[in-house]
Amino acid sequence: MGYPVEKLKALALAEGFDAAGELNIQALVFMPEVREMCSADKCGAYGKNWRCPPACGSIEEAAKRAANYSFGMLVQTIAHMEDEFDYETIEKAQKAHAESFIRMMRTLKAEYPDILGMGAGTCRRCKQCTYPDAPCRFPEDSYSSMEAYGLWVSKVCELSGVPYNYGPCTVAFTSCYLLK
Ligand code: SF4
Repeated sequence: MGYPVEKLKALALAEGFDAAGELNIQALVFMPEVREMCSADKCGAYGKNWRCPPACGSIEEAAKRAANYSFGMLVQTIAHMEDEFDYETIEKAQKAHAESFIRMMRTLKAEYPDILGMGAGTCRRCKQCTYPDAPCRFPEDSYSSMEAYGLWVSKVCELSGVPYNYGPCTVAFTSCYLLK
């Protein structure tokens, strides 16, 4: 079956993303080194969220799950900052990216019920994650990040022919959907 790349790109733009492109499925290499960066806990989410390591599962499980898919789309939100300390713009873009990501996942689920979405950054659906005391409140709308799965995002973009770096004082949040 062929996948409607242009239609999916148009959908991504309609859902609020700034750029989208086909994911090179061969670029999905699940690297323990990336997972190790998670355990350094620079983002403060390691061991505190159902969709982050270690709760989200092992690299091997991620690779096994992803092997079931033969097609994917990368989606991006690009922010233009006033300077490199423009955290307000970064936060706004990150929030917008997460909202677009959930919207598009809900839309795609109608046609691709087995969709696997990998986001940018930890799941922020709730102010305070229930981990580890109670089950996830929104299993349908929560997701792990590409990094949590062990993917080196800039490499995945490069091998897919999708830009990752949009120049000085820009930041691009990148997520992907695997479809079948
Ligand atoms: S939806 Fe809420 S409970 Fe579930 S992983 Fe995200 S933040 Fe945690």
